[in-house]
Amino acid sequence: MKAAAFAYARATSVANALDLLAAHGDRAKVLSGGQSLMPAMNLRLIAPELIVDIGELAELRGIAVRGDTLVIGALTRHVELQKSPDIAAHAPLLADAVAHVAHPAIRNRGTIGGSLAHADPASELPACMLALGATIIVRGPGGERRIAAEDFFTGIYETVLAPQELLVAIELPIAKKDAAHFFHEFARRHGDYAIAGLAAQARIDGGRFSHLDLGFFAVGDRPLLAKAAGKLVSVDVTPAVLADACRALDAELDPQEDQQATVEMRKHLSKVLLKRGVAALLNRPELGAGMTA
Ligand SMILES: Cc1cc2nc3c(=O)[nH]c(=O)nc-3n(C[C@H](O)[C@H](O)[C@H](O)COP(=O)(O)OP(=O)(O)OC[C@H]3O[C@@H](n4cnc5c(N)ncnc54)[C@H](O)[C@@H]3O)c2cc1C
Repeated sequence: MKAAAFAYARATSVANALDLLAAHGDRAKVLSGGQSLMPAMNLRLIAPELIVDIGELAELRGIAVRGDTLVIGALTRHVELQKSPDIAAHAPLLADAVAHVAHPAIRNRGTIGGSLAHADPASELPACMLALGATIIVRGPGGERRIAAEDFFTGIYETVLAPQELLVAIELPIAKKDAAHFFHEFARRHGDYAIAGLAAQARIDGGRFSHLDLGFFAVGDRPLLAKAAGKLVSVDVTPAVLADACRALDAELDPQEDQQATVEMRKHLSKVLLKRGVAALLNRPELGAGMTA
């Protein structure tokens, strides 16, 4: 199928893009890498009247370290995240995760801003943003807004972004020296959307978690920053403590059933991920031993 007819404008600056979006409201759509937008248009799931192409706006691309913050431009492509020494050094969770986003051809065009704005609940990068405590920076007719990642995602393909707003950058606190991370997803094949996944960032002191953020994805209508993590912080993690955390996680999860998995399968896989993640982060294989996925 082909997309319905649409008008096309190549934005010459962020201000120009914002003017176009302000003039056309929800009849316009931003085009970044096009890896989600174009398939949706070709399938006629959406039919915007105007495409505002921001792909040439160099001011929205790039990765920089500013003090103890990593700043990532919205147009930074997945492949650039994968190859960046700054991402590897200061946000290694993101480097691990992005290797699971689709396939090389898609990673060569798809952007971090597009992935976050698209807000597919099975996407890897939104969950990483929760685990890493990201701030998402948005510009619109009223100026700039800084939004905590936890408040950004509101449902399936839904965020707090207004049609007239542009996601311009992401800020991440750079990983502390005692930080550890874990990333794993269950998918039919490498590169497929996940059936269930976990992006976790921790700080460990004397064999205990002093901080633990668990970002689950593909197990609800949006990425989940699991409160169950609180059961594991500042305590000696025993099998009983971990079982308690699994029960707390189970109560928080609200997965959907689809062709890939039932609700029960997704809940089971999430608990497997929690146990494996904790075992790996604390370097205590016995905590994850004997589990099957
Ligand atoms: C076969 C296939 C497999 C895939 N597998 C995965 C996967 O495993 N995991 C995964 O996470 N993704 C996957 N994707 C999606 C891919 O990662 C996309 O690159 C990404 O979701 C969107 O980035 P983009 O730059 O291409 O955005 P676009 O397609 O250009 O835009 C996506 C949406 O975001 C909006 N948008 C884009 N940029 C902005 C901005 N700066 N401000 C405001 N709104 C904006 C657009 O208007 C549109 O609604 C897959 C895609 C395909 C085709």
